[in-house]
Amino acid sequence: MPATILVTGGTGLVGKAIEWTVEHEAVGSQFGKFADDDQWIYLSSKDGDLRDLKQTMAIFDKYKPTHVIHLAALVGGLFKNMKYKLTFLRDNCLINDNVMWAAKEHGVEKMISCLSTCVFPDKVSYPIDESHVHLGPPHHSNFGYAHGKRLVDVYNHAYNEEFGCNFTSAIPTNIFGPHDNYDLEDSHVIPGLVHKCLLAKKNGTPFTVAGSGTPLRQFIYSRDLAKLFIWQLKEYPEIDPIILSVGEKDEITIKQVAEAIVKAVEFQGEVTWDTSKADGQYKKTASNEKLRKYLPDFEFTPFDKALQESVEWFVQNYDNARTGVKKQ
Ligand code: NAP
Ligand code: GDP
Repeated sequence: MPATILVTGGTGLVGKAIEWTVEHEAVGSQFGKFADDDQWIYLSSKDGDLRDLKQTMAIFDKYKPTHVIHLAALVGGLFKNMKYKLTFLRDNCLINDNVMWAAKEHGVEKMISCLSTCVFPDKVSYPIDESHVHLGPPHHSNFGYAHGKRLVDVYNHAYNEEFGCNFTSAIPTNIFGPHDNYDLEDSHVIPGLVHKCLLAKKNGTPFTVAGSGTPLRQFIYSRDLAKLFIWQLKEYPEIDPIILSVGEKDEITIKQVAEAIVKAVEFQGEVTWDTSKADGQYKKTASNEKLRKYLPDFEFTPFDKALQESVEWFVQNYDNARTGVKKQ
């Protein structure tokens, strides 16, 4: 029987990267299709609102997936998370509850849901590893999103223990790449700053970065993450989550991110810092030791190369990209 893999959130940053990877990797490789006749289905919210159980069940009735990569979520950067804490908690809980129930009811063989390093406690010992998820409250700035996502791990174990379901989760660090949300206000730091820097270059104005620039983050290129998701779907045997991240030594400051963007965009104007804006969590340094045990030789794309590809994609696709800017 050929596999049918349903990717919820298939039109977003990570979903599009999975689609790209499935098209470009060899069939049967660790990061490619299972077989030639697999069917990969990439869902958009236009296929149905996953906050609604009836619509979710109708999607599963229609496609009868054997495997699910569950990415759909209300997603946003620090500033959007600070504004809509209840909406982040409620929408993500509804989506996850419905998708997991539908997967169980339809006998899905394996499902991977996507968490985030925001789930980890704010006060924690470093480096963070998979055993830390439930060891204390998350950072206040995004506690709605974080609690919603943490619950996925609780569900996975409960589904496994009561019904024997093979549901697991991935914990990626900050992601960026083609098809990101390049909104100026509600996006994550890389797409937001790439857009701001290009506008500053075009308008001859300063490039303004929010916060102090001192916070530290680990960034993963969406196309590297896509490979890891496919590997996880095919080979990862655990219910417990796995952190999908570059190494601790690849953690960089927001100031270094801004400098790399200035270089990629070839911006020559003034860079200013709006320190009235929040820094959010100072760091969430995650260990990829578990990932390295499974995939010691996995090669991550160098940050500058991945950033360059993302900037080029955004410039070439500005008219259709998510920018939050009304286009004529
Ligand atoms: P994204 O680009 O914002 O895409 C979100 C996807 O979810 C879109 O396909 C969207 O569909 C779909 N969606 C949202 N609400 C929905 C609803 N109510 N019903 C059905 N579909 C819905 O997000 P992403 O950055 O790819 O994130 C993918 C996953 O990675 C998420 O679970 C996120 O929490 C996690 N994550 C992201 C980051 C990051 O830095 N971006 C970091 C760690 C973890 P439409 O576009 O068609 O509306
Ligand atoms: P986080 O890792 O969940 O906090 O998500 P973000 O991708 O939103 O990164 C937030 C960090 O980048 C904070 O330290 C912000 O102060 C900083 N930052 C600087 N400029 C921007 C910007 O334009 N947008 C966002 N989202 N963050 C910015």
